[in-house]
Amino acid sequence: MKDKKRWAARVAGEIHKLYPKADVSLDYSSPLELLVATILSAQCTDARVNQVTKTLFKKYRSADDYAASPPGRLEEDIRSTGFYQNKARAIRQSAAEIAGKHQGRVPGTMEELTALPGVGRKTANVILGQAFGAPGVVVDTHVIRVSARLGLTASRNPEKIEQDLMALLPENQWSEFSTRMILFGRNVCKARAPQCGRCPLYDGCPWEGKEAAAG
Ligand code: SF4
Repeated sequence: MKDKKRWAARVAGEIHKLYPKADVSLDYSSPLELLVATILSAQCTDARVNQVTKTLFKKYRSADDYAASPPGRLEEDIRSTGFYQNKARAIRQSAAEIAGKHQGRVPGTMEELTALPGVGRKTANVILGQAFGAPGVVVDTHVIRVSARLGLTASRNPEKIEQDLMALLPENQWSEFSTRMILFGRNVCKARAPQCGRCPLYDGCPWEGKEAAAG
């Protein structure tokens, strides 16, 4: 465990150097906007989401606006992000709960957030970390892959990975660490063509495919 913690600290240090700012690249100015943008970002690039939300956030200013939108309108407004019917349903239903049960405000606890329709732990951790400053580890597809390659977890289960990473890192690093891991997974430790040859973690990385990937 001690060695693993030391390795996790090294990983955290290297990805900190690569991505000092650790910002999510979604544009938002309130917890509600972040919630909507995060739902839209599933299977879609952040750039596309930002393009769509630029207009969307001017049209829909409150949870009520989303909840009361006429059938088909919201779907049309978010169509280009893909899977728009499911996303519209998730946004409308969670907005209705926020308007009805939380006085129009996005709640700030894991329990309340994950009780919203269409909001899982990953989305909840994004909201808690970015909008409420609460520590949490976001486990998305990039974090699952990169943590496994780096030997930080032996699990493929997002909840277990979340616990494994939380045990390895100090609480005040959880949110930024996962944001940086996502950026690192998108840009360096990619799913299909990991850039092992230019990776600052190459020497310590235990992934058996790294030499072939480095070429
Ligand atoms: Fe990912 Fe390759 Fe770097 Fe290991 S060496 S962390 S597999 S990019």
